[in-house]
Amino acid sequence: MECPFEKVFPSKLVINDEYYMSFAYNEAILAWQAGEVPVGAIAVANGEIIASCHNSVDTLNDPTAHAEILAITQSSRAMGDWRLNDVTLYVTKEPCPMCAGAIIISRIGRVVYAVTDGKMGCLGGSFCMQNLSGINHHPKVTAGVMADRCLQLLQTFFEQKRLLKEENGFDLAKELLL
Ligand SMILES: [Zn+2]
Repeated sequence: MECPFEKVFPSKLVINDEYYMSFAYNEAILAWQAGEVPVGAIAVANGEIIASCHNSVDTLNDPTAHAEILAITQSSRAMGDWRLNDVTLYVTKEPCPMCAGAIIISRIGRVVYAVTDGKMGCLGGSFCMQNLSGINHHPKVTAGVMADRCLQLLQTFFEQKRLLKEENGFDLAKELLL
């Protein structure tokens, strides 16, 4: 299933959340090109990108290989510390329960996500993991950055997947790991 979207090349003149989210978006495109649900994440510390990952569940045959989990592991290695208070995580879709949990456990200082997930999102969309009583780490959360573009990528992926299944029958789709 070919990805009809191109990577974006943000201007370095304005370094803001959109700028960094562009790199997460480009990771999401790489995910699609690898046959994965297109979600990408990057992590930034002191203005520098220290992790860049995409969803790799099928590729690694690992249900925990969400973009955020991979980015947290990469960040801890880059920082030489598992406590990531000075790190901002950018991700194209709102973190699921597993990833929101990992964000709190790793003490990530700030999370910026694009698309709100009303079903599984655990940083405000469906549930607020950061508001659990008794926890002592509360990441700052910003939602909706580059949401239109990241949503279009996800929706188109699932539409095309559905069409392919309808056209070719379930078995072929399964064979193509879709
Ligand atoms: Zn997740």
